Amino acid sequence: SDPALAELLNSRIRDVPDYPKPGVLFKDIAPLLADAEAFAALTQALADRAKALGATKVVGLEARGFVLAAPAAFAAGLGFVPIRKAGKLPGEVFGKSYDLEYGSATLEVQCDAFSPGERVLVVDDVLATGGTIAASLDLLRQAGAQLAGVVVLMELGFLPGRERLAGHLDGAPLETL
Ligand code: AMP
Repeated sequence: SDPALAELLNSRIRDVPDYPKPGVLFKDIAPLLADAEAFAALTQALADRAKALGATKVVGLEARGFVLAAPAAFAAGLGFVPIRKAGKLPGEVFGKSYDLEYGSATLEVQCDAFSPGERVLVVDDVLATGGTIAASLDLLRQAGAQLAGVVVLMELGFLPGRERLAGHLDGAPLETL
């Protein structure tokens, strides 16, 4: 971890109380994305992790994960693969449903997204309960990808997201910038 980077990133993340509903402290990354220096530093850090972990693809989770993963993939000289909410990807897809606080959600990835032996870095903005990333890791395994690692911009330390992912990582690292 890089304390100077963490400080720069933290200074550009805005806490919005009671959004989208009472009791939630929303971590708004819009100021970070709008700041050229911070966005470039974040992109480079993600690209460096992708290369160091030997990734052959960078996977972004809809929607804010796309905004972080796609430029990182470009900067690392790698391809980008989206994991999307149900019904957005054409052709054959693998799907994985997971529980939300109220109801459930389904994530999908295209069946032909990966060639045999590919190693993927998974990128998202916030690790909260871990449900989104856990479902994504299950999907990637179904799609035949090997996990190089997971990198999130931030982790909500008061939620058991990291514990929840422990059984899904296959020994790959979970890192927070
Ligand atoms: P979870 O599945 O609970 O780990 O939630 C992770 C997903 O929900 C991420 O894709 C985040 O974009 C979003 N999310 C959850 N909690 C927050 C929060 N407090 N602020 C911003 N985004 C959040």
